[in-house]
Amino acid sequence: MKKHIVIVGGGFAGINLIKSLVNDNRFRITLVDKNNYHFFPPLIYQVATSFIEASNISYPFRKLLSNYRNVNFHMGSLVKVNPDSNSIETDHGILQYDYLVLALGTESNFFGMENVKQCSLPMKTIDEALYLRNYMLLTLEEAARNKDIKEAQKLQNIVIAGGGPTGVELAGMIAEMGTYIAEKEYPEMKLSLSSIYLIDALPTLLSPMSKMAQEAAYNKLKSLGVKIILNTAVKDYVDKKVILADGKTIETETLIWTSGVIGREVPGIPEESLGKGRRLLVDAYNKVQGTKNIYALGDISLQMTDENFPKGHPQLAQVAIQHAKNLGKNLKRIEDEKVLIPFKYNDKGSMAIISKFNAVVDLPKFSFKGFLAWLTWLFIHIIPLISFRSKVRLAFNWLRLFITNNPSIRLILRPKKESNNE
Ligand SMILES: Cc1cc2nc3c(=O)[nH]c(=O)nc-3n(C[C@H](O)[C@H](O)[C@H](O)COP(=O)(O)OP(=O)(O)OC[C@H]3O[C@@H](n4cnc5c(N)ncnc54)[C@H](O)[C@@H]3O)c2cc1C
Repeated sequence: MKKHIVIVGGGFAGINLIKSLVNDNRFRITLVDKNNYHFFPPLIYQVATSFIEASNISYPFRKLLSNYRNVNFHMGSLVKVNPDSNSIETDHGILQYDYLVLALGTESNFFGMENVKQCSLPMKTIDEALYLRNYMLLTLEEAARNKDIKEAQKLQNIVIAGGGPTGVELAGMIAEMGTYIAEKEYPEMKLSLSSIYLIDALPTLLSPMSKMAQEAAYNKLKSLGVKIILNTAVKDYVDKKVILADGKTIETETLIWTSGVIGREVPGIPEESLGKGRRLLVDAYNKVQGTKNIYALGDISLQMTDENFPKGHPQLAQVAIQHAKNLGKNLKRIEDEKVLIPFKYNDKGSMAIISKFNAVVDLPKFSFKGFLAWLTWLFIHIIPLISFRSKVRLAFNWLRLFITNNPSIRLILRPKKESNNE
């Protein structure tokens, strides 16, 4: 009898686990995902800013899995895990498993601020990025039409909460697009009114990175005109006013939320198995504490057994990939009745793009910035794309876009069924 492995979540962790098990016919795998495509979150901000198409960074699961004979796809959202009966419920059915692997990632954390949750614009999924793209383009049109200076200012203000890599990358790209595109294509707009604010509660941008990277990001964004506010948390968002911890307010129609994540909810998992940030506590082999055959990988897991990372690993793609590879080996070792390998993270560094031709890279032993860092960033972000075709297409698009500074996909697309009333 083949062992049935159900993997929930086809992100970095889920897909890499499949890759490490596909050639082993002792296993039958079912991938469950609420979407029908795998996507690449690090480049989502380029979709949100109309720089690249969503299809450049996403790939259909069924196409990806069609070459693997022992893998099936079940499109559905996880509703509940039933550890006693070794089954999960999705919104489209019930699946039995021998091993369950939870790789659902995280969702935006609004830290209990209901108004922010309701009215800000998060940017963690393709759907959210496309929504944000439409929203910003519509707001630009409104700003171009508006004759009232105060209203126009509010429409042109963009507030980004969160000064991590996503916030920095987004601020840099929006600022540059303002220079290259808005000035040319929106002549009726008073661009002197437009302001991009980047806000973080911590004293620096890119807080987990080196001092060199933090300063480079700060200085470059300042030179692009971004207003950086540090040491100040966003506290509320009322009547289109962002309220800051020091009592100051910023009027804006656009509050983009890139400030923190929380593990996705997994009903049915014992409360005791949850750690900080609603992450699932796992042992050195990624087994969820208090369970016998349930594993968690990547962003949703919290593993404090690695001596170099006693508080858990950073929520990065490399951790998810390495988790998956290690679990792949261990599942085979369980079948072979061999001793399991504890997980140890091999930190390959981190990086962020700040603007065109400018990035910062922290490697374990040294850091660098500027054009070479930018080329490194581009190269590293093309490699993990799922198909050769996607890599070539993205490389080609980037080449064209960075030369012309003018992507032509600024289309406001609002898919809906034709209705007789409209
Ligand atoms: C905007 C952004 C930029 C980032 N930039 C970087 C970067 O530059 N470098 C870096 O290393 N990391 C970056 N990260 C973090 C990196 O993307 C994550 O660490 C990585 O994606 C984690 O992989 P994962 O497999 O655990 O989860 P994910 O990649 O998030 O995959 C989770 C999967 O679960 C599916 N899913 C979610 N809920 C359900 C459900 N209820 N039922 C079924 N399926 C579900 C999702 O559709 C998705 O396919 C970034 C993240 C974001 C959001």
